[in-house]
Formats: sequence, structure tokens, C-alpha cells
Amino acid sequence: MLLSIKTKLNLTPDQKVLMSKHAGIARFTYNWGLLTWDNLYRDGLKPNKFILKKFFNNYVKTEYAWIKEKGICQKITQYAFDHLGTAFDRYFKKLGERPTFKKKGKQDSFTIDASGKPIPVGGTRVKLPTIGWVKTYEGLPHTTTQAITISRTADDWFIAFAYEVETSPSAHQVDVVGVDLGLKALATLSTGVMFPNPKQYKKQLRKLQRLSRQLARKEKGSNNRYKAKTKLAKLHVRIANIRKDTLHKITTYLCKNHARIVVEDLNVSGMVKNRKLAQSIAGSGFYEFRRQLEYKCKKFGSELIIANRFYPSSKTCSNCGHKKEVLSLSERTFNCDNCGFSLDRDLNAALNLKALGCSA
Ligand SMILES: [Zn+2]
Repeated sequence: MLLSIKTKLNLTPDQKVLMSKHAGIARFTYNWGLLTWDNLYRDGLKPNKFILKKFFNNYVKTEYAWIKEKGICQKITQYAFDHLGTAFDRYFKKLGERPTFKKKGKQDSFTIDASGKPIPVGGTRVKLPTIGWVKTYEGLPHTTTQAITISRTADDWFIAFAYEVETSPSAHQVDVVGVDLGLKALATLSTGVMFPNPKQYKKQLRKLQRLSRQLARKEKGSNNRYKAKTKLAKLHVRIANIRKDTLHKITTYLCKNHARIVVEDLNVSGMVKNRKLAQSIAGSGFYEFRRQLEYKCKKFGSELIIANRFYPSSKTCSNCGHKKEVLSLSERTFNCDNCGFSLDRDLNAALNLKALGCSA
């Protein structure tokens, strides 16, 4: 069964420019194709997308250097003709209107592929052919796709693709997943998917600290103090919203794609004395994280397992089961003294949680 997904991209300003360039070339090609189609038709010929493609590649593309600019995926012109052909097919079958010229800023989109090779997707990063890595806000399912369409609505860019699933859409793609919660990565999954701590969140937290210090220096009862207080209150709301949004993305992804989810029990008040840890789910939002997981598990028919807080997920080797005596927070890589296994600390912990879920 073929499913499709469309979600918002998290692009840098440079990437947005690059996307606009691609969309511009796709639009140019489509409009050129439509104009040529009409001309050929008027001359009594029967145009089709194959003739147009061939003519365009041999005679037109060579004259427009900007189409062949470095960093531009050359697949987009092929797809522009495919889209035009499909639009005419629909028109002839009376399923749609006659194709019209595309206007800049309206229906900006383009499609690319990897010359028949499947494109791997999954998590919040995708490597687009030629274009390179782009980020998404929402985690993508772990799969592959044949072609990717990028489109724009207002100022936002979206990624869309179709992917094959073996069984019914409600079936989970990975049975058991272990989730390690941390600071650098908010959540690391045993599947290798990682949700980073949003940069915006850290930035706002620094701002919060600065504002708090400023407030302390303002004279009590003064107008300036009132202003600073209002500012601070607004910032608190903003930070809470960013955090909630992030948690929703993680919990939806988890429950949607996995049948059994194993997380550590971090609901221990007073455990988080460390100021830095307050930025993580562990420090600031485990209760909310767990609440979301619980109701979303019901919604998607998955199961939540909370590992006992004494379960040594970080200290245990996920390869041989050997348990370390000490593992300091600064050690980012788990190195096993017993079997020589070496792995990212968080991923190792996530794998141990997964193992716990498999034996439960
Ligand atoms: Zn080991």
C-alpha cells in the first residue's frame, strides 16, 4: 500500500533561495512546454511530453545557462514535463481544466529523484539529491521513496513524498523502540532517530536568564520593573509553547510508528538539581512527555513501558550486557571494557531500553 506524507521544512535562508531557484526553473520549463504544446497543436501536430522533453533537452536547455547552474538538480525539468503531460491527460479525460501558465509565487513546486535509486528518509533530516541535507520539523517515517516534491505555501516550504508500507496503514513500522532522554539530543531512539534540543529553545532560555537578572536590578514598584515583568511573563509563555510543540512532535512520531515504547522513569522530583538538565525533557517536562505518550499510545494502539528508575540503561553494554561501575555524564561514548564495543552513549542506552521492552 502506498502512503504519502507532506510536512513543513525547516530551511535556512540560503536553502530557501535555492528552493526558489528550483521552483523557478520548474515553472519556466512547464510554461515553455505549455506554450510549445499550443504552438505545435496549432500547426496541426500532435504534441506529447516525450517530444517536448527531447526538444527541450537538445535545443533549449543548452541556451539557458542558469538552468544548468551548479547545485541545481537537473531532474526538475523532466518532472515539469511529466506534470504537464499528466495535466493534459486529465484534461482530455475531462477530469480537470485545461493546463494554464504557472505564475510566480503561486503553486511553486518542483520534483526530484535519484535516477531510479530509492531515496532514504526518516527522522528530521532528509538528504535531497544534488541539493543536500534539509531538516523537517516533524519526524518522518523510516523508509525510502522514489521521488520527492518540494512546494511553497506563502513563506513556508513543504516536502512531500509517497512511500510503500507492507500492511495496513495502522500497522507499526518498528515493533519495539527504546527512548533515551537527554540534553544534547532531547530524545535518542534505538532505531537511530534523534530529536535534537531545538536551538530556539536554548536561545530563549538564555534570554530568560538575562531578563531575570535585569528584573532583579530594577527598583521595586517602578514602571521599568513592571515592563520587565511583563516581558518576562511573555517569554515564559513562549518557551512553554516551544517545549510543548517539541514534545508533541516526538510523542506523535513515537506512538505512530512503534507498537511498544520503552522510556526511563524520570518522574522523580528533586532529581534534577543540575541547571543544565532543566533544559531537557528529564528536567522540565517528563510529566507532560509521559501524559502525551499515554494518550497517544491509546490513539495509535501502541503500548507504553516505563522502565524502573534503577534500570541501568546507561551503564550497561548493549552488546554483551556487561555493566560498568561508573559512567560520568561527560562520557559521550560508551566503551565496553568487557567486549570492546563502542557506541554513542545515548544510543547505547536506547538499545538497552529496547532490549527491556523485547523481554517484557
Ligand atoms: Zn560489552
